Amino acid sequence: MPATQQVSVIGAGLAGLAAATHLAEAGVGVRVLERAEAPGGRVRTDHVDGFRLDRGFQVLLPAYPEFRRLVRPARLGLRGFTRGALVRDDGGMRLLAGPWHGPRAVQDVARFVREHPGDVLALARLALRDAVLPASALRRAPEHTVGHDLRERCGTETVETLLRPFVAGVFLDPGLGTSARLFHLIWRSFVLGGAAVPELGMQALPQLLADRLPPGTVETGQEVAGLGEHEVRLTSGETVSADAVVVATDGTTAARLLPDIEPPAWHAVTTWYYRTERPPLSAPTLALDGTGDLPLNSLVNSQAAPTYAPQGTSLVQASVPGIADSAGSLEPAVRERLAVLYDTDTRDWGLLATYPIEHALPVLGPDTPLSRPVRVRRGRYVCGDHRDTPSIQGALVSGRRAAQAVLADLGRR
Ligand SMILES: Cc1cc2nc3c(=O)[nH]c(=O)nc-3n(C[C@H](O)[C@H](O)[C@H](O)COP(=O)(O)OP(=O)(O)OC[C@H]3O[C@@H](n4cnc5c(N)ncnc54)[C@H](O)[C@@H]3O)c2cc1C
Repeated sequence: MPATQQVSVIGAGLAGLAAATHLAEAGVGVRVLERAEAPGGRVRTDHVDGFRLDRGFQVLLPAYPEFRRLVRPARLGLRGFTRGALVRDDGGMRLLAGPWHGPRAVQDVARFVREHPGDVLALARLALRDAVLPASALRRAPEHTVGHDLRERCGTETVETLLRPFVAGVFLDPGLGTSARLFHLIWRSFVLGGAAVPELGMQALPQLLADRLPPGTVETGQEVAGLGEHEVRLTSGETVSADAVVVATDGTTAARLLPDIEPPAWHAVTTWYYRTERPPLSAPTLALDGTGDLPLNSLVNSQAAPTYAPQGTSLVQASVPGIADSAGSLEPAVRERLAVLYDTDTRDWGLLATYPIEHALPVLGPDTPLSRPVRVRRGRYVCGDHRDTPSIQGALVSGRRAAQAVLADLGRR
C-alpha cells in the first residue's frame, strides 16, 4: 500500500479511537474527524466549580477484556467501588456487602439470608456460573430478556428489590427487556473486577487513547455532513479525500451517513449531581432504590475518587434510568428519595447540574445478535456500540473489528 493511503475515521468516541489505534499501529495513515471540541463522545467529564461531573453517571469495569487489551489500568488511577450495594426495600435500607464492611453488613446480609435463603443461593450460583464459564459459552446460552432470565433463576422479590434497580442502572432499561446474554457478559465483568472510575473522571479513558495516537490525528470541530465515493464532506464545505472511511459515530448518525445501517432505538437516563458539605455515606457504595415506578441509583462519587470534589465538600450523583428529564420536573422527588435512601436531610444540598440524556445506550433485546457486521463494502466500514454490546467494552471491540476489516481489504493483517 502506498504510504499516502489514508483512512478517515468519523467520530472520536471510544469506538473511533480504538479503530484509529489499531490502524495507526499497523502503519496506516489515519485522520479522526470529530464534531465536538474534544474526544470522548458519550464519555466526557465536565468541570463545574471544582467538581468533576461525568456526563451521565457511568463506570468502567476493569475486567472488560477489550479495555485490558488496550490500556494498562494503572495508567488511569482507577478508584474502585464497594463490591456490594445499599438496597432499599420494605424493611428499610440494607447493606448487602462482604463482612469486612463492618457489623452493619454482617447483620444485614444475615437478615437477607434468613428471609430469602433460596434467592441467596441462586445469586451465588449466578455469580459463580458467570465468573467461571468462558465468555464464549455465555454468548451461546439460551436467549431471553434479562427480566425473564433473572426471575427464573432468583425469586421475583429479589429481582424487584435488588436486581431490577441494579440492572436498570447498568442497561438504563427499567423494563428489563435487555438481552440476557448481554447481562451475563457484563455481570461477569462486575464479578471478576468490580466497578471503578479514573481519578480524573471518565473522560481520562478516551483522552488516554487520543493522546497515544500520532500528534494531530484527532481533529476536533470537524462535523461530517456526508460521504462521497473517495471523500468525506464536512459541514464547513471542505472535503477530505480518503481511501477508506470508518463511520464511528453514534448509531443514529451512522444510519444517516450509511443508508444500509438500521438506526437503533435508545435507552435514556437522567443524572443529577449534588454538592454537600457532609457525605451521606462514608463508603463508595452504590445505593439502589427499586421502590416506586422509576428505579433510582445513587453514589457519593467523591468517596470513590476524592478528586471528583474540592476539599471539604462531597459530590453525590443520583440517576433515574429510562427517562430524560429535560423539563427538570423530577428533581424534587429525586431529592426526597435521596433523603430516605441516606436517612439524611437533603434540602440544603446544592444542585450542581442535571444531565438528561435521550440517546444514552442503544437498545439490545434478545432478538438482536450481540455482534453485527462492521464492513459495509470495500472502503466503507462502521463501528460503535450499536455494532457490538452497548458498553465501553462493545465500543472498543467494534473499533478493533472495523480496523481489522479495513486492514484485510488493504491486504494487511
Ligand atoms: C449516561 C451513560 C452511562 C453509561 N454507563 C456506562 C457504564 O457504566 N459502563 C459502560 O461500559 N458503558 C456505559 N455507557 C455506554 C458507553 O459510554 C458507550 O457505549 C460508548 O461510550 C459508546 O462509544 P461510541 O464510540 O460507540 O459512540 P459515541 O461515544 O457516541 O461516539 C461517537 C462520536 O462521534 C461523533 N460524531 C457524531 N456525529 C458526527 C459527525 N457528523 N461528524 C463528526 N463526528 C461525529 C460524536 O461527537 C462522538 O464523539 C454509558 C453511556 C451513557 C451515555
